[in-house]
Amino acid sequence: MEMKMYSYIALFVSAVLLFSSLQVDGASWSYVIGEENGPDNWDTVFPDYCSKSKQSPINIVSKSAEHKPIGDFTLVGFGSTAPTDARMKAENNGHTVEVELTSGNYFVSEGGLSAPYKAAQFHFHWGNVNTVGSEHTVDGKQYPAEVHIVCYNTKQASVAEAAGTEDGLTVLGFLIDIQDEDNPAFAPLFDALSGIQFHGDHEDLATPLIFGDILPSNLSSFYRYSGSLTTPTCNEVVVWNVFTNPILISQAQMDMFRSLNKNELGDAVNETYADTFRPVQPLNGRTVYLNDLNALPRGSGSLISPVTLGSVVAFVLATVLLK
Ligand SMILES: [Zn+2]
Repeated sequence: MEMKMYSYIALFVSAVLLFSSLQVDGASWSYVIGEENGPDNWDTVFPDYCSKSKQSPINIVSKSAEHKPIGDFTLVGFGSTAPTDARMKAENNGHTVEVELTSGNYFVSEGGLSAPYKAAQFHFHWGNVNTVGSEHTVDGKQYPAEVHIVCYNTKQASVAEAAGTEDGLTVLGFLIDIQDEDNPAFAPLFDALSGIQFHGDHEDLATPLIFGDILPSNLSSFYRYSGSLTTPTCNEVVVWNVFTNPILISQAQMDMFRSLNKNELGDAVNETYADTFRPVQPLNGRTVYLNDLNALPRGSGSLISPVTLGSVVAFVLATVLLK
């Protein structure tokens, strides 16, 4: 009888150990530096990708960016009206606020992309105070927040499928800064936040956000580099676009993100989100490009190309000979 009792206890203890180890090896991760599954340990907890050499986010050094005429994006669904039948659903997923584009056609193409990409969701990264929060930094400056519009290559069927393919995803990343007034274009989202105070909560937006009212008017100025998902499992499948013009929201709107809880309703202790960003990763020799439609193609070297020089010489000779 006693032996049987010990066996039950042993079984229980092993089950608990197995479960907690699965939690670490499996889907569990946090943004808390120093925690067992925090960002400074992702490379060992999720070694398949998080330890590799093309990780995101990065610090962008503006004067090192290579100017290149990448081309402007062609956007569908990002104008001053929402696509017909567009619907958006906000969720507190335990790591961030994610808004799923549950229906409506949102497409991104051109801009140097190899295929059209379909936008599937957008989500936010923010800090506990305004001096931290964005994932990408520019010349060492970190913004209070950043929004990522995640788009998958239409050669794949979903974000999940595209996350296993090179160039499977492209992300439109916008830095977020603070202005005095509320940004009214975000109202449908901030109205919904009261309904998603806890992990697992979700709420349909009363009306879809209008991207044309939210995004900066200049979408030609963006940095481009090859990188990864910024959350485990850090797949290196992302064509990154970090726009130089920020989105502006008010301090009151910023504070609404900070009031959200990362625990579930009914947990013993409520804990608000603190810093929901991954620290910047080494560039490891990658080139960061800046879309510059006036830039000379790479390799042209001198200001005058041999062809141009030839034409000038021929013109001068012709002028002299015809006199
Ligand atoms: Zn993100």
